[in-house]
Amino acid sequence: MSIHKEVIDGIYGMIHARHALLSCGWAQDVLVAIDGGIITKITCNAPCPQVATRVDTLLPALGNLHSHAFQRAMAGMTEHRKQGRDSFWTWRDLMYRFMDRLTPDQIEAIAAMVYVEMQEAGYASVGEFHYVHHQTGGRAYDDPAELSLRIYAAASRTGIGLTHLPVLYSYGGAGRMPLSPGQLRFGNDVDGFLTLLDAARAGLGALSADARIGIAPHSLRATSPQDLNAVLDHADGPIHIHIAEQPMEVEDIAAWLGQRPVDWLLHHVNVDRRWCLIHATHMTESETRAMAATGAVAGLCPVTEANLGDGPFNGVTYLAANGAFGVGSDSNVNISLTEELRMLEYSQRLRDLARNVLVVGEGSVGHRLYTGAARGGAQALGRNAGEIAEHRLADLVAIDSTDPALCALSRDQLLDGFVFAANDRVVTDLWSAGRHRVKDGRHVERRAVVAAYRAAIGDLMASL
Ligand code: ZN
Repeated sequence: MSIHKEVIDGIYGMIHARHALLSCGWAQDVLVAIDGGIITKITCNAPCPQVATRVDTLLPALGNLHSHAFQRAMAGMTEHRKQGRDSFWTWRDLMYRFMDRLTPDQIEAIAAMVYVEMQEAGYASVGEFHYVHHQTGGRAYDDPAELSLRIYAAASRTGIGLTHLPVLYSYGGAGRMPLSPGQLRFGNDVDGFLTLLDAARAGLGALSADARIGIAPHSLRATSPQDLNAVLDHADGPIHIHIAEQPMEVEDIAAWLGQRPVDWLLHHVNVDRRWCLIHATHMTESETRAMAATGAVAGLCPVTEANLGDGPFNGVTYLAANGAFGVGSDSNVNISLTEELRMLEYSQRLRDLARNVLVVGEGSVGHRLYTGAARGGAQALGRNAGEIAEHRLADLVAIDSTDPALCALSRDQLLDGFVFAANDRVVTDLWSAGRHRVKDGRHVERRAVVAAYRAAIGDLMASL
């Protein structure tokens, strides 16, 4: 390994950690060698070579398994109470108006800002659930994957590991309702979607080798059983779908298809480890156990689910059934890894009037949530990551255990401290497949990305 290669590619290097959470548990004075974005060698109780990046505590970095990057730009605009009862559906109205104005340049600038914030929060990768495809009014761009390419540009600029998830969105509601004017930029029939998917796959070669592409039928309400089966024939990566987020959605699907959404999906489609079911908030006990048994990942977005008033996930039954899970920032109203995990546990405590809920038997809640979300996030994004081990991708995050929020804690309490007592400020460094993009708590491209974001937002607000 040469310094020259490291400078050129940024994916060759060595990290020395005072403490590291390896797949086999905690170790100290750990030297991690990275080549081509992959961890090639781990040595414990090793001295720190001069060329190594020295960190305090090294953890596997999480994948953020569910993002709609553009929604970050409307964060804080929907927290003003109006007459009547605000709901998910009134939030969606504003999102449609807002989205109607967005240009490709603005989408790219917003996504880059979002990815910088994610990496600074400790996420090495992101699943971009990408559903804005067309021009205002619904006409396709000359390149049907134009807006996918803008997401690629943002990922390339920031170095985040991207799993791109182009969305099939054909109908405005359950029962093949026509698209509303606010949904025209999303719309594709199956043929249009497959054309777009081919173009997005062709463009992926411009990204680093760890980038992935999957597919995302938006939801049962935005597709049909026939269309769903047609696109699943073309899946060769992760498959994500929104499911059972809102009670009204559950009622609409049950009235149309005769079963609740999760129940219907599990009985009509081969749901397996390739799948990520986003939200899965409103499930019966039997749906919860059946979903856990499939090996699919529950894509939980606790901050957005709280913000939108969706309700709490049935975490107790799901974890008891050994269900896989990960977290995502979805609407990106607030990008905070620690807050997602904290909110996940707190939502269960508030509902059950109990403490330390999301552990089966005994053990550290922070450890269970963090390591579980690391494994589940990697699975959902199709990344060979989720733990620090040789031959895995170097998706790594370093935190400072000497921070006042953490310095009193033993090593076994550290993840409890990170999740419940600290915030993302304790993140010092982050590597996405070996790309060292956060140093001293700041993304190396932050200044330029923020400047471009401010300019884009200025233009967007002037156009509204
Ligand atoms: Zn979503």
